[in-house]
Amino acid sequence: MRSTVSETVEDSEVPANGGVRDSRATTCRGTRRDGEPCSSRIVRADGYCRVHSPALSSEALVEQTRQASARGVARRREQAKTVRDRLREKVEADFETLWSAFESGLVSDDERTRLASAVALLAEAYGRPPVAIVGDPDRPVSFVLDSLLARARGEQLLELEEGDG
Ligand SMILES: [Zn+2]
Repeated sequence: MRSTVSETVEDSEVPANGGVRDSRATTCRGTRRDGEPCSSRIVRADGYCRVHSPALSSEALVEQTRQASARGVARRREQAKTVRDRLREKVEADFETLWSAFESGLVSDDERTRLASAVALLAEAYGRPPVAIVGDPDRPVSFVLDSLLARARGEQLLELEEGDG
């Protein structure tokens, strides 16, 4: 870096009695735009004034700003957790309980419960088919399935009637 060069220059310029060195030690180690050494005596711990300190360079400030911004984003993301996010965390933390509910449905004595459990499980694992009604508590999966079966039976009956007639 430049500092090494300026130190070498300083050493060569120090008179034999060394009297100048103390006053120069508090002068900024930076170089002005016109190429002259900076004469500022208000220097930081790193030996540079506010203008020339590498710690206060635009790149360092940009990096500091970027890091502060990233911290802010992470904090806001944590604060912005929705109820859905929290429920999802609960589900993942206690997945076995959730699974046991599916499991007992799958081995139920009631055939319709077994089927509904299987359909719900498949829908959760692979996504709901487009015929399923999303977000309608009055029409759960079993109801949709029943009505689809009823419609299929109805169409079958119609076909039989047409075949007979
Ligand atoms: Zn300076």
